[in-house]
Amino acid sequence: MFDYHVHTTQSADCATPILASCAAAIEHGVTEIAFTDHIEHEPADMSFGFFDYDTYMADLRHARERFGDQLVILAGAEVDFNRRIAPEVEAFLAAHQFDFVIGSVHYGVDREIIFPEYFDTRSLDEVFFAYYEDIRAAIETGFFDTIGHIDLPKRYAPRAAGAYDPLRYESELTSIFKLLIRHEMSFEINTSGIRQAPKTSMPGPQVVSLYTRLGGSLITIGSDSHVVETIGAGIRQSLRMVELCGIDSVSTFRHRERFQTPIATLL
Ligand SMILES: [Zn+2]
Ligand SMILES: [Zn+2]
Repeated sequence: MFDYHVHTTQSADCATPILASCAAAIEHGVTEIAFTDHIEHEPADMSFGFFDYDTYMADLRHARERFGDQLVILAGAEVDFNRRIAPEVEAFLAAHQFDFVIGSVHYGVDREIIFPEYFDTRSLDEVFFAYYEDIRAAIETGFFDTIGHIDLPKRYAPRAAGAYDPLRYESELTSIFKLLIRHEMSFEINTSGIRQAPKTSMPGPQVVSLYTRLGGSLITIGSDSHVVETIGAGIRQSLRMVELCGIDSVSTFRHRERFQTPIATLL
């Protein structure tokens, strides 16, 4: 079982040490884990300047020494992206080595979209349209291996903003998926949505089916864990879901190179 989205103490919003996460991963049946801490270039963000690459790599080495015989441990990153910080993101990735890099959009036009207030003065459509423009830009940079939580605003939109209908954004998603396919890039199935308000993975089956109808076949999968309890959570269930949508393999990475593993061998 693969969990390709797990945070450590190198993320400002996570207090779980890497060794505790490795032990929990093994206990939960995870065989391969990518530690993907927040890499933040938005100056106002709590994570700005928090990640220290050398400390992270030292932590990773310790984890591999201790658990490397039972668990494949990958150097990953969840790099925040929007068009304003693109030059800083590019410089950072050129200067640091990872196995696997997620590109995630967390910021809207002037602040993080994780606060309900963000939706006070904007319609759901305005939030999603701007979000998807940054997702498209993220793909076009070619900086990333996969795109994180592709319908993130659904996790934070307050009920007052109206019900989220994934296919309302079908034309935006269609252009994003065509772009992903052209760039031979994936998006992730982020299982954290299952345990949070949306009660479904990000994205869910309707959006994954749209991708496969367009000819897409590349996904990564991760729990977005910040605590040990959720490592590996929802992975099997989501693999069954994507299989029903017509996806038959999941991507793994070594030194930014993609490999495909058949889902049938994981379930
Ligand atoms: Zn994220
Ligand atoms: Zn995350």
